[in-house]
Amino acid sequence: MTILITGGAGFIGSHLVDHLLNETNHRIRVLDDFSTGDATNLEHLDTDRLEVHTGDIRNAKTVSAAAEDVDFIYHLAAAVGVQNVVDNPLESLRINLRGTENVLEAAHADNIPTFIASSSEVYGKSEDLPFSETDDRVIGPTTVTRWGYTTAKATDEFLALSYHRKHDLPIVIGRYFNIVGPRQTGEYGMVIPTFVEQALTGEPLTVYGDGTQTRSFTHVADAVQVTHELLETPDAHGEVFNVGAPNPTSINDLAERVLEMTGSDSQISHVPFEEAFDENFEEPDRREPDVSKLESVLGWAPETDLDRILADVIEARSETRPGVT
Ligand code: UDP
Repeated sequence: MTILITGGAGFIGSHLVDHLLNETNHRIRVLDDFSTGDATNLEHLDTDRLEVHTGDIRNAKTVSAAAEDVDFIYHLAAAVGVQNVVDNPLESLRINLRGTENVLEAAHADNIPTFIASSSEVYGKSEDLPFSETDDRVIGPTTVTRWGYTTAKATDEFLALSYHRKHDLPIVIGRYFNIVGPRQTGEYGMVIPTFVEQALTGEPLTVYGDGTQTRSFTHVADAVQVTHELLETPDAHGEVFNVGAPNPTSINDLAERVLEMTGSDSQISHVPFEEAFDENFEEPDRREPDVSKLESVLGWAPETDLDRILADVIEARSETRPGVT
């Protein structure tokens, strides 16, 4: 069998490549444009079961060529990171809208089972915790760039569900909740790599807002395991699942824990959102998944283990940049 992973050189994508190479005998084909993905994420792999296509998912021909003769598709290529989507709104919308439509069209051409990576971002600023898959979404105005990203991810879900309903395409949608772990870069604003880097270089940890906002951090190893199992579970097809670990952590607590685990004497500095982004920025205050649907279909769901996540991130960072403190 051959598996296509779009965004396979990215943070989550490259962990999925590792997982599928380890757990199956399948051949893996990666399609990535190396914009936010990075070749170093795959450089540890020395196997003829991996082929890498460089290309942009906004190009339909590129996507259909990459999907030729594949048995499963994992669509993870996307514009990532709040900072990135706020800085590059038009490009982000095109990648997330056109790109996903191209993938679904290529999947439909050969009826290829496809996993669509969505995001807890689709719940917007809902305060109805924990979030269940059929809960209402609460989204702000179109003048706030972030909600364009939110809406694009939700539109990807509408598209995938429509291909399923109209053409019986076997799709499954995973809403990722703050997936974190080794290889995630702080370049696009993600909090854990940013705090770890700041702690190890003695810089102040930049906590946005008052730091009471919470997130449900989920280890990437759990996320890729769930992703693989969902696509191989026919009962999951045509469905949406939260992919996250419950038990949220506040950003203040996260900053304290990073300082403890790195032994850093960095300060914690609170930065107003309008300074970190712009005066028009809006922030979802709390995020927490209801994982009962995932548990009922797979028999398990990720659990929160912030210390394991931080230990893995700190160790990986020391391996890639030994001696840099
Ligand atoms: N955050 C922060 N400092 C940073 C980066 C992020 O306090 O340097 C906060 C951010 O405001 C959010 C949380 O950490 O409340 C998670 O941010 P991230 O960008 O990792 O993911 P998000 O949940 O916003 O998609």
